[in-house]
Amino acid sequence: MIARVRVLDSPRVTPTVRGVKFEKPAGFVFAPVQFCGLELSTEEGPVEYPMSLACSPTKPYLEFGARVSESPWKRAFALLKPGDEAEVDGAYGHFVLDEASPAVLVAGGIGITPLKGMAEYAADRQLPIDVRLVYSSRDEEEMAYRAELEDLSRNNARFRVFHTLTRPSQDSHWTGRRGRIDADLLAEASRGLESPAYYVCGAPGLVQETYRLLMELGVGADRVHYEVFRGYG
Ligand SMILES: Cc1cc2nc3c(=O)[nH]c(=O)nc-3n(C[C@H](O)[C@H](O)[C@H](O)COP(=O)(O)OP(=O)(O)OC[C@H]3O[C@@H](n4cnc5c(N)ncnc54)[C@H](O)[C@@H]3O)c2cc1C
Repeated sequence: MIARVRVLDSPRVTPTVRGVKFEKPAGFVFAPVQFCGLELSTEEGPVEYPMSLACSPTKPYLEFGARVSESPWKRAFALLKPGDEAEVDGAYGHFVLDEASPAVLVAGGIGITPLKGMAEYAADRQLPIDVRLVYSSRDEEEMAYRAELEDLSRNNARFRVFHTLTRPSQDSHWTGRRGRIDADLLAEASRGLESPAYYVCGAPGLVQETYRLLMELGVGADRVHYEVFRGYG
């Protein structure tokens, strides 16, 4: 479906991530959580980028989150304000939560977008599956949707988040895990789950490395789903 949509809200998510919520057009359906083409008017004319939806289909709006940069599309995205219009084309893709299997979601940076949507979906639908999120951020300020994820853990006893920070600032008081996602963290997040499905999302390097670690841990390739944010390194 291709539809014109109007901006409802455009919050700053982190110092480098902007969020935008759009009206949801009547009849727009998507599976948890596919991506869309999002076409914006830029200084170079209309440009479309693939963007994962950053919310559950149970929500009454369409949400996106993007790491800002100086490219024309990103500049246009960062300038969106309530009332502005864009065009969505979608939804597409096979990166979709299996509602019958326990899930381990693995996010690197802005790769959190569809995984936050999956966690919202599991909570809103009260799915009878455990959902664990492993989320690697650069530092505390760059943990996108931190409050939303905390709310989800409070409201859904079957949802847990495992944060790790790769580059916390020198004066950080962070007492949680530091360093990249490794086999120990993936094993800890998977503990007690029977044949979980894995959903990995982020830049190509993170997805490749996580896939390699999961193979080393003996996870079957058929249980690993991934969405690669091509365009990031
Ligand atoms: C399925 C899918 C879902 C995605 N979801 C998200 C998301 O939720 N959030 C997010 O931040 N990013 C997402 N991306 C990546 C996004 O589409 C961009 O590629 C990425 O954000 C980098 O864009 P940039 O303009 O900052 O890159 P820069 O490195 O600044 O780009 C430099 C130039 O490369 C070109 N370019 C880069 N990316 C694209 C592109 N995708 N299409 C056309 N030209 C491009 C442009 O000409 C741009 O001027 C997703 C990608 C895919 C494939």
